Amino acid sequence: VQAVFRSNLSHLLELMGSGKESLIFMKKRTRRFTTQWTKAAKYLAQKLGDIRRDQKQILVHIGFLTEESGDVFSPRVLKGGPLGEMVQWADILAALYVLGHSLRITVSLKELQRCRIRVIDTFGTEPAYNHEEYATLHGYRTNWGYWNLNPKQFMTMFPHTPDNSFMGFVSEELNETEKQLIKDGKASNMAVVYGKEASIWKLQGKEKFLAILNKYMEIHGTVYYESQRPPEVPAFVKNHGLLPQPEFQQLLRKAKLFIGFGFPYEGPAPLEAIANGCIFLQSRFSPPHSSLNHEFFRGKPTSREVFSQHPYAENFIGKPHVWTVDYNNSDEFEAAIKAIMNTQVDPYLPYEYTCAGMLERINAYIQHQDFCAGPSPVPPGASTAQSPFVLAPNATHLEWAQNISSVPGAWPPTHSLRAWLAAPGRACTDACLDHGLICEPSFFPFLNSQDSFLKLQVPCDSTEWEMHHLYPAFAQPGQECYLQKEPLLFSCAGASTKYQRLCPCRDFRKGQVALCQGCL
Ligand code: UDP
Repeated sequence: VQAVFRSNLSHLLELMGSGKESLIFMKKRTRRFTTQWTKAAKYLAQKLGDIRRDQKQILVHIGFLTEESGDVFSPRVLKGGPLGEMVQWADILAALYVLGHSLRITVSLKELQRCRIRVIDTFGTEPAYNHEEYATLHGYRTNWGYWNLNPKQFMTMFPHTPDNSFMGFVSEELNETEKQLIKDGKASNMAVVYGKEASIWKLQGKEKFLAILNKYMEIHGTVYYESQRPPEVPAFVKNHGLLPQPEFQQLLRKAKLFIGFGFPYEGPAPLEAIANGCIFLQSRFSPPHSSLNHEFFRGKPTSREVFSQHPYAENFIGKPHVWTVDYNNSDEFEAAIKAIMNTQVDPYLPYEYTCAGMLERINAYIQHQDFCAGPSPVPPGASTAQSPFVLAPNATHLEWAQNISSVPGAWPPTHSLRAWLAAPGRACTDACLDHGLICEPSFFPFLNSQDSFLKLQVPCDSTEWEMHHLYPAFAQPGQECYLQKEPLLFSCAGASTKYQRLCPCRDFRKGQVALCQGCL
């Protein structure tokens, strides 16, 4: 059966059920975004033309809302608890529905059937933590890992590592008239503090930077409270209490500055603020936070080092919309506040967080990702004897020679492959970004051969096949080349000063990092 784009979401709203505060929040959101989804569907339908799309039967099991899991989220929806997960689930449901797939939604473990799965995994799962045996042997065993899935089956909130699939969510889009109205209506001295829970106001050392902020701006908060003003929030702050989402957006439209205190990490709110014309100011983390040194990340199956409250905002958006400064340095902080008050910015939303961008990305996953075949060390069509590579003129990277052989059915298409030998201690995620590219783990099998090292003129004294999440790699002392024995361990993430990793990179669409130029 062909999938047909849908523009009427009322049946979806019925499917979503009722009762729980979390579901009510999600349904309100879906209703509010209907026009935006409909417009995006029209746009994508036109862009895809008459490409055939299969309709899938999808069971959506919202695990974090089940009674069996304790459902700690629903009772906190109106009390300042986390909402990011609900934002994302609502948007996933809307996207799947608008794309025309057949959905069943469950919030009960009893209705979870055996099926081919995708896991919604906010912070991601790196391959070293996913492979049960390897994780157990090498100290990567955590609360959430070791499922032995294809790492691309984990779908994240932000594009953390390309080892996982970037799922995302959406934010409100404005037309040109609305953008102008917002720009004209901004109060240049109005700041809103990021965070709904009073606990963020207990942060050590905040008195100093708050006093500076208070010198220049009127400070607003949206901290939940029951009957009294939360004692953590200083008297000079105008606290609105937890606002319904549309009213929160209205507040952001007037504000000049959205300021983060360091927690919560990586939520939707900064994107909404930037989309509504705010500048987002956040603290730099030095040393970076990670599962090794911070309670929040402890036990999460990732080695990622987080250098600020919202790394996506810092790295993918940046100035003039995002300022990342050292809050302990009063001069730097004060200079930033003064500069921000005098900086004009347009409301901005990266394409991948628009409805069209999310539809396009999820549609590409649904039509192209195939986890049934399982990863193979050398994919069919890529013979190691007859190398498909050409050597780039400067001899530090390899390019796939499209005209020699392109692997049929491979997705992303192999012609976008560019392989680089990373510097010692550099992860493939970073090595690719250094060249304006993104690491593409599905290309690892094409590089995992002696031939690739040969082509790169790497002087291998010997070559060994081993299970290691940093392989294929070259080790300087001993001049040894290592190849990957376990396809599940191919990993963009991870680095060691012992190794120069061989990294598969590809191009990407501007504002849609999950998709390569020819990937639709
Ligand atoms: N939000 C809200 N009312 C408020 C403040 C925030 O409805 O007073 C919403 C906001 O629009 C965002 C969601 O809360 O979509 C989650 O934002 P956040 O970044 O705080 O992530 P969380 O920590 O809740 O997952």
